[in-house]
Amino acid sequence: MSYQEKCFFRELNMTKFIDTHTHLNFKDFEKDRFSIIENCLLNQILMINVGTTFNNSKTAVLIAEKYAYGVYASLGIHPLNVEKEEFDFKELLESKKVVAIGETGLDYFYENFNKEKQKKYFLKHIELAEKIDLPLIVHSRKAFEDTYEILKDKNVKGVLHCFTGNLNYLKRFLDLGFYIGFNGIIFKMNLDKIIENTPKDRILIETDCPYLTPPLFYEERNNPLGVKFVMDKINEIKGEDISKEVYCNSLKLFKI
Ligand SMILES: [Zn+2]
Repeated sequence: MSYQEKCFFRELNMTKFIDTHTHLNFKDFEKDRFSIIENCLLNQILMINVGTTFNNSKTAVLIAEKYAYGVYASLGIHPLNVEKEEFDFKELLESKKVVAIGETGLDYFYENFNKEKQKKYFLKHIELAEKIDLPLIVHSRKAFEDTYEILKDKNVKGVLHCFTGNLNYLKRFLDLGFYIGFNGIIFKMNLDKIIENTPKDRILIETDCPYLTPPLFYEERNNPLGVKFVMDKINEIKGEDISKEVYCNSLKLFKI
């Protein structure tokens, strides 16, 4: 944590949060993203807008550039978009607000997925992250074995976002040094055992908005304010308030 961060903490004595995986860069938020962001910042919620195509990665950067503090971007081509997207982030990498590469990874959920192309793009993201020393935001759905096989001998750190794997995979990804990202899916699937077994210095919180709205959140379309519900549930499972540790984990991984 930087000196300024520490001062901020002390002065406000207020817990801060980082939604480490949000999509206010999506078209869903075209009309009201800036009022949402300002409301989040007033509520001490910082955020990383995560790209899934070249265009929305660019939007994530443009949004982040508008704010001096608290709003960051990640550049990536989602595994379900590899068929129609080129991998070329040169111009966007000039922004200092880019704190991660992704989302990238493997998604074998739909029948017609192209395994080879997904792997090829995943490797390109990993190579870039290694080269410029940024963490990787990894999406893995029904593909934990292949995700692990690809990551295990790479010199890269990052987060397994929206983690839904079993205890065996949890252990393996933790051993690689990865962080584990939890979002509103913890209200849909029972991931209590996974949360119990993830050390508090490896937990990150996220919304993946506009998706996965926590059931008690008054908004239908999720936004970064929903991240507090995820944190509350994790605290409940852990039996202690680990919000500050989780906040610091994000600062550390994304070098914010
Ligand atoms: Zn996402």
